[in-house]
Amino acid sequence: MTFSIVIPTIGRPSLTELLGSLAGCDGPWPEAIVLVDDRPHAVGSLLELDAVSGWPAEVLQIRRSGGHGPAAARNVGWQAVGSDWVVFLDDDVRVVSSWLRRLASDLADLEPDVAASAAEIRVPLPAGRRPTDWERNTAGLQTSTWITADMAYRRDVLRELHGFDERFRRAFREDADLGLRTVAAGYRIVPGRRCTDHPVRPAPWWMSLRLQRGNADDALMRALHGPSWHQRANAPVGRRSRHLLTTAAGLTALAAQLAHRRRIGALAAAGWAGATAEFAWARIAPGPRDRAEVTRMITTSAVIPPLAAWHWLRGLVVHRNAQPWRGARPGPIGAVLVDRDGTLVRDVPYNGEPERVEPMPGARAALDRLRAAGIKVAVITNQSGVARGWLTMPQVCAVNARVDELLGPFADWQVCPHAEDDGCPCRKPEPGMVLAAAKKLGVPVSRCVVVGDTGADVAAAQAAGAAGVLVPNAATRHQEIEAAPAVFARLDEAVDALLARRGVPS
Ligand SMILES: [Mg+2]
Ligand SMILES: [Zn+2]
Repeated sequence: MTFSIVIPTIGRPSLTELLGSLAGCDGPWPEAIVLVDDRPHAVGSLLELDAVSGWPAEVLQIRRSGGHGPAAARNVGWQAVGSDWVVFLDDDVRVVSSWLRRLASDLADLEPDVAASAAEIRVPLPAGRRPTDWERNTAGLQTSTWITADMAYRRDVLRELHGFDERFRRAFREDADLGLRTVAAGYRIVPGRRCTDHPVRPAPWWMSLRLQRGNADDALMRALHGPSWHQRANAPVGRRSRHLLTTAAGLTALAAQLAHRRRIGALAAAGWAGATAEFAWARIAPGPRDRAEVTRMITTSAVIPPLAAWHWLRGLVVHRNAQPWRGARPGPIGAVLVDRDGTLVRDVPYNGEPERVEPMPGARAALDRLRAAGIKVAVITNQSGVARGWLTMPQVCAVNARVDELLGPFADWQVCPHAEDDGCPCRKPEPGMVLAAAKKLGVPVSRCVVVGDTGADVAAAQAAGAAGVLVPNAATRHQEIEAAPAVFARLDEAVDALLARRGVPS
């Protein structure tokens, strides 16, 4: 069982604390910790943070997701790793020193139909006084199911479900949506025994108004999962129908005033005032009742119902035709990773002689067209002849140098010298070389396309989260051609298709 940790972040100071508490953990270490920087690209780098720069680069990886929200950021993160499990942590949680150990025991020996393991979330509240509206709101995380503040998913299941639905742009409902799709696909989500603290963040006084945007996300949930999704996701329905009535009463009072219908106006105004007062009291009663909190509750209680109604109606319109999530539309291709033998050059088994290198027809021009389009081109090649003792590494390098001379320059070379029985993570169909090349080139693996002549090339691509394209030759097995998501007769035809993004899987 292997796992990685993915932390979407906007560089809040709490990230420093979280990394500090992770560093102090004992227990099995993750394959990788991926920080996904979701600030717009123009803003500085996470590497500027002291807390980040102290980590070795092979453990702590940084990706950017360009400010599309936590759902999209988590997708960038899990697609960057190759481990069996992906643990999502919010950047404002804190873990105790036993967390890694407990995580490992939570994930050990789970049945194959268990897709996810949720942590127990604790929200520490101030002692000695009653919690404010915002603190009670955050404390709601403790009783929510499926929240991604600390949630481990099987990577295979994330791939099957296309990850998080990126139409959820806020940290709201994207977790319940994935949970519902996971359960609908026949999997289980089980509670784990690890505990994670989610402190209450400081928030501006209008926070309760900002949260009303979540009503639009609820409209998307309704469009995707039907009106009964609340029960299935164990999410409270809240006061929306009352907000709609309150708003209707307020609007009726205004309209009656304009139409000089005094009696109806007075009746509607009384209804509005009564409902608003009831709402304000419902928020004041459990709180600290100091002057600041009471003033805040009274002001915002008058604004929340119409705001909630507005965002709900807006969401219903925007998402009226929402289709099930099938993954983000493919972005531009950033890199093409090409197999060497049988794809770039004619396959001469265990070739150690540079003079026997013969490019495939049209290869040179095709690769140059990719480079001219700003697409990085790299080579990923299995050379098990080294492990078998039939080739030396210097011979492989000499042949590679000749390939580079005839078809290069290549932005990166990944060579696996191991044999099938070595159990290495790099030999295709393992995803290691695809992930390594993507990392080296600084291209998200979802924007990489692997082109090769065998099923192992395509499988390595798919295992890494890249697209796979098959250019078979006489030696390619029929089953592999049938199973491939995209097949082209020649390398240059595959390149034409890639440049036009025709018939290429994402
Ligand atoms: Mg090959
Ligand atoms: Zn290897």
